Amino acid sequence: MVTLTEADITQRSTRIGRQCGGCSLCCFMLDVVELAKPQNMWCPNCRLGEGCAIYHDRPGICRGYTCAWLVNGSWPDYWYPLQSKMIIDFEALPDRPVTLRVHCHPSYPDVWRQEPYFTDLKRRAERGQTGPNRYRVMIGNGREWTHLVLPDGAVPLAAQKPGPPPPGANDD
Ligand code: SF4
Ligand code: SF4
Repeated sequence: MVTLTEADITQRSTRIGRQCGGCSLCCFMLDVVELAKPQNMWCPNCRLGEGCAIYHDRPGICRGYTCAWLVNGSWPDYWYPLQSKMIIDFEALPDRPVTLRVHCHPSYPDVWRQEPYFTDLKRRAERGQTGPNRYRVMIGNGREWTHLVLPDGAVPLAAQKPGPPPPGANDD
C-alpha cells in the first residue's frame, strides 16, 4: 500500500485514462472536516457539472483524497462512482486495521449487494486476507458501517460511525 500525493493522483489517473467527468459524488457523500461539511450533504463549493469553485484553494483533505476507481485500473469501469453509486477508498491509519471502505450513496444503501459488485468485493476480501497487503472490506451508508465483506459473503456489523476520508490511498 502506498500514500499518494496530489501529483501522484493526477499522474496515475492520467496514465489509466480516468477522470472525474461529471461525477462529484465525493463532494456530497464524504465529510470534509476543514469545511465542517458533513457526509451526504453537498459542499457549498461544488458546482455540479463544473467542479470545485475553489479548486486551487481547496482544503488539503480534498487534494489528498484518493478515490480508488480514479487511480487504480484494476477496478473495472462499472465502479465509476456516478454509475455504481459507491465510492471506494482505503483507510490506512496507524491505530486501525487497513480498510477498503465502500461508501454507498444514501439513496442506494444496498447497491453493494448487486452484481457484479458483490462478487468483486468478495474477491477483494479474499485478497485482503491472503495477499501481501492485508486489509478488510467494510460497507458504509454514510451514517454507519453496516457490513464486513468476507470471501464467502458478508456479515452485519454493530453500528460504527464512519471515519474521515483517508489522507492517502493504496494500490490494491
Ligand atoms: S468520487 Fe471519485 S470519480 Fe467521483 S468526483 Fe470524487 S474522485 Fe472523482
Ligand atoms: S472544497 Fe471543492 S473539492 Fe472539496 S468537497 Fe468542496 S467542492 Fe469538493
